[in-house]
Amino acid sequence: MKNNNDMISPAHLLDDEPVGMTVQVVRVMGDGAFRQRLLEMGFVRGAQVTVLKNAPLKDPVEYMIMGSHISLRHSEAAQVEVTDKDAEFCDMEDAFNGIVETEVAGVDPMADNVLRVALVGNPNCGKTSLFNSVTGAKEKVGNYGGVTVDSKEGWFNIGGRKVQLVDLPGTYSLTEYSPEEMYVRTYIRDNRPDAILNIVDAGNLERNLYLTTQIMDMNIPMVIALNMWDELEKSGDKLDIEMMSRLLGARMLPVTAYNGHGVKELLQATMEAIDESEQETKHHNVNYGTLIEDCLKELGAMCPQLDRYTVLKIIENDQHALALLDDQENAAQVKIAAAEMRQRIERDYNDDIVSIITDLKYGFVRGALAEALTPNPERATGETKPGYSMDRLLTNRWLALPILLVLMWLMFEATFTLGAYPQEWIENGIAWIGQWIGSAMPDGILKDLIVDGIIGGVGGVLVFLPQILILFFFISLLEDSGYMARAAFIVDRIMHRVGLHGKSFIPYLIGFGCGVPAIMATRTLENRRDRLVTILTIPFMSCSARLPAYLLLVAAFFTAKQGLILMSIYLIGILVAALTAIVMSKTFLKHDKTQFVMELPPYRKPTARNATIHMWSKGKQYLQKMATVILAASIIVWALGYFPRHEGQTPQEQIENSYMGMMGKAIEPVVAPLGFNWQMGVSVLTGAAAKEIVVSTMGVLYTGETDADEESTSLKEKLQTATKPNGEHVFDPIVAYSFMLFILLYFPCIAALAAIKREAGTKWMVFEIIYTTAVAWVVSFIFYQVARLL
Ligand code: GDP
Ligand code: MG
Repeated sequence: MKNNNDMISPAHLLDDEPVGMTVQVVRVMGDGAFRQRLLEMGFVRGAQVTVLKNAPLKDPVEYMIMGSHISLRHSEAAQVEVTDKDAEFCDMEDAFNGIVETEVAGVDPMADNVLRVALVGNPNCGKTSLFNSVTGAKEKVGNYGGVTVDSKEGWFNIGGRKVQLVDLPGTYSLTEYSPEEMYVRTYIRDNRPDAILNIVDAGNLERNLYLTTQIMDMNIPMVIALNMWDELEKSGDKLDIEMMSRLLGARMLPVTAYNGHGVKELLQATMEAIDESEQETKHHNVNYGTLIEDCLKELGAMCPQLDRYTVLKIIENDQHALALLDDQENAAQVKIAAAEMRQRIERDYNDDIVSIITDLKYGFVRGALAEALTPNPERATGETKPGYSMDRLLTNRWLALPILLVLMWLMFEATFTLGAYPQEWIENGIAWIGQWIGSAMPDGILKDLIVDGIIGGVGGVLVFLPQILILFFFISLLEDSGYMARAAFIVDRIMHRVGLHGKSFIPYLIGFGCGVPAIMATRTLENRRDRLVTILTIPFMSCSARLPAYLLLVAAFFTAKQGLILMSIYLIGILVAALTAIVMSKTFLKHDKTQFVMELPPYRKPTARNATIHMWSKGKQYLQKMATVILAASIIVWALGYFPRHEGQTPQEQIENSYMGMMGKAIEPVVAPLGFNWQMGVSVLTGAAAKEIVVSTMGVLYTGETDADEESTSLKEKLQTATKPNGEHVFDPIVAYSFMLFILLYFPCIAALAAIKREAGTKWMVFEIIYTTAVAWVVSFIFYQVARLL
């Protein structure tokens, strides 16, 4: 494959092409990470691209390349040079040289006593689904890239042997440009798994097999799982698996991960590959043509301990591969030889080394596919595959944003209304238990502890379990259907305005569930500053732990439009996050250039299994939190409110004079301007550990105020009737809203701070504590004072 750039009919930029046009890629301009990313996503010489649609706000744009859908910003599309789709300027057939066999030393798979198999593949090709199906694990699955951010291990048994299976984050290639890619590459290099199970999306072979060509070079036994086989069959494309296996020199088996079809055969084949590697010393590799093969041989002889992959990377001038040479005697010589080879190859191919190697790898894949894959003859060029038809509605220019808002509103409304029924049953159950214990136990400290401390505290939060489950059910639907990536596509323009990235939308949405996984999910953002801004603003996305407080206060003090009031709190959180992001990205976290290369997967039917797994694991976490943190906090709060005991005081006086009361009185001046009494001040203080504790503390503090015969009244009613010493009600809608604003914005919980510390460092964690609390105080103060005046 030699370039003859002069023969290209006038080239233009992809960005200038109208919707509906199909063109051919000539080259990607620029350099570095962005260019590399586009190349590996399939924007290589000769690839056909179709312009599908503009996002509702005109930017980004959705393109189809190699059958997959990718969104790029206009500024990025302007970096891609294209030409007519029929122009003949590069001869792909030439690029296919088949495979070469190289000698590798046989290894003893049981050398370290564990058999280890690693799952490697593109994002969203079904690795975790396969992992769950094989190991029985319940790891999170979602229909968008970046769900798995670190490795997960599980075990399976086969033929009397125990094998460890490792689920790795998805990656398009193994270059040095993004953290996941480095992670996977380092993992393979350092752990040397006994076999690699390469999962590919059978409906997207051209791009998925690009990664395969890189894995092949690593000289580790490999089996390819053609996942999503059900979708390939549905699309009408035909793949000759036997021929494809022969051409690539690798075993391939069809599987459908989410229902387990073909999985047994796949594991069997993997074990066979491992066993053979013990004797077999031949390994199949991509044949890069005489010149490069000669270079590989020559350089390989100079550093015999490095695999073919690393040697090729050294020729490519990859910094991490070069660093591996450092403790080698002849490092300098190798570097000189590699540089000389690089020049020779670049001169010969008239291109830069990165494109040459990428083109050759793609050439190899395409050559093989040209033989073995017969696309459905009924599908025209530029026509999308099944699974994308819902985009006509969901990313429609006029409807997309309204639909997004309605979906979010539905989520909150359903959480509120549907959750109210089971909540009532739990509430009644808890009240009944409280009464029963109250009447069965003799009066005394133990009874007070159980009824006021434990039932009042934990029970007050426990009742919101149904709502939490419903919220997570909705998030799981959004994740599993593929809508998440669309949401990012729709709002990218807005996010860009505030100095962020459409992809940040996904961690934000997850943040409505819980901030900790949301902070982890930012790992898919390539740019460090974007990531930092996203991490620091995630705590403003109201997590489910705050939901009990809102549900309690909204139900108690607002009679109409409860779903909307709830949503307004969430929207204010988003607004504060946006303002924060604007300020940060305009001042101390200025960023140069953000990219928006993102894949839009086909819509998939959310499976009941995934939704249940998700709800179940969240429900379990919630209950565990109740049984530990919330229980402990309730007991402590109760004890602080119970002691020291004074004879002959009313419960009200007793709690005012307790340790808790003294603490509360001390902080009262700070929170009084926000409309809070000392009980509320104490609640937000204890709620710093976990936000549910705000409610459990209120539960404990307000039980003390009721008379014995009122034992059964719910916390909601107690708040409604609570009065100040002067007889006025403590709460009214303004106070309640001010309180909700404070709960929304202040101090993220301990777990979230730990995650921030891990992902961004101690300095940013400290910043976050101060910043969020200051913002909360100011916002509540302004709201309360202004609302009082009106
Ligand atoms: P990962 O990112 O590679 O770990 O992929 P996941 O396991 O999270 O799966 C991505 C999406 O593909 C999810 O929506 C799965 O439900 C779906 N999926 C996984 N395997 C299959 C399959 O064999 N057929 C179909 N149709 N969908 C699948
Ligand atoms: Mg995964």
